[in-house]
Amino acid sequence: MLTSTDCLYRYGEPEKEAGMMLWDVPPELEVGVVPRRIYCNRDLVVPLAKAFGNLITSGCVRELRTWDGCFNIRKKRGAQSASLHSWGVAVDVNAGWNGFGAKPTLTPEFVKCFEDAGFDWGGRWRLPDGMHFQLHELPARGNP
Ligand SMILES: [Zn+2]
Repeated sequence: MLTSTDCLYRYGEPEKEAGMMLWDVPPELEVGVVPRRIYCNRDLVVPLAKAFGNLITSGCVRELRTWDGCFNIRKKRGAQSASLHSWGVAVDVNAGWNGFGAKPTLTPEFVKCFEDAGFDWGGRWRLPDGMHFQLHELPARGNP
């Protein structure tokens, strides 16, 4: 699982916003409540585009009710280390129905759309964070 230490090593302090970009979501992926532009880590673009594509082809996009953000410099809830949102490699969805520590309500089919695209789901954690998806790993160095 990707950690804040990995991100710190790769991108530096979150405040530098190294590796961040404003992604223009392609029209064919403009799904439901997803914004047309997302400020995120450039390493998130390919997996997130894949996850959106999976949502569309599976029909699970109907389940996407709210987009609750990506880049946000903050500590992990209840911890001292930085949240992966601090480097823009995590996203939150349907937060109102998947609160931190609460039983997640996302369907397995919806979760699979993200997991198949290279994300880990916070809903599987001991203290569940059902709204949260984060990159499983960073791509090898040398990617464009
Ligand atoms: Zn999150």
